[in-house]
Amino acid sequence: MIPALEITDLDKAYDDGTRALHGVSLTLPDGGFHGLLGPNGSGKSTLIGMITGLVRAPAGHVKVFGHDAVTDPRRVRTLVGLAPQEVHLDRFLTAREVLVFHGRYFGMTKADAGERADEMLAIFDLEGKAGTRPNRLSGGMRRRLLIARALVHRPRLAILDEPTAGVDLELRHELWSYLTRLREEQRTSILLTTHYLEEAEALCGRISMIRAGRIVAEGTVEEIIARFGGPRLEDAYLRVMHGAMHGAVSEVTP
Ligand code: ADP
Repeated sequence: MIPALEITDLDKAYDDGTRALHGVSLTLPDGGFHGLLGPNGSGKSTLIGMITGLVRAPAGHVKVFGHDAVTDPRRVRTLVGLAPQEVHLDRFLTAREVLVFHGRYFGMTKADAGERADEMLAIFDLEGKAGTRPNRLSGGMRRRLLIARALVHRPRLAILDEPTAGVDLELRHELWSYLTRLREEQRTSILLTTHYLEEAEALCGRISMIRAGRIVAEGTVEEIIARFGGPRLEDAYLRVMHGAMHGAVSEVTP
């Protein structure tokens, strides 16, 4: 089966000489839920930018369902849905219009975009808010709308960049149940970044930990805990990051 995402030996140096990624490899199988964890400045946004075509990547290193992100960017754009970290929603559009416009941008017919918008509003329990503008929605609803928007054009790979940042505990748990449903009902492969370790523990089948542009641990939650020590993923994470700082962790879990 062709993986949803295949990244091999990816390096990135910005024009000012900053080396953001060093030989990063990551494979997300079709239908997988993969967590990308790392401190600020570790290279997560750079990696996401290279998948979504916002940051230049060398050809042959980033493939989405077998399509090269550099040589076949149009195809890759339709296959990927990105829910960005910051909530940017046009305040002059209603929630439904936000979704329909996004679908139209991706070339969907008016009827198809409308139908899909209604489906997304139903999945994310926003039906009653179809005619409401984003600035009148609660924080949790805005987050849901942002994820719904990323999925309107039926991408097969969803990239969720810190979808629950700054959201209170109750809302975070609520969002988790939406993400679980999303994966089950829409059969979407998901790459998630988060600073909440318990979120990765609850949702992700596999996890990559990145520090200073290098993957320093990779595996299931159980594998990472078995290798680096628990009892929680948070304990393993702190050990991995601390060890990486002192050069003690250089291998990746097979
Ligand atoms: P994260 O998303 O994990 O916070 P980033 O990918 O944003 O990490 O950053 C990785 C490294 O690349 C950091 O050292 C950051 O300062 C640097 N960086 C990010 N974007 C640019 C850019 N446009 N030009 C130069 N350096 C950058």
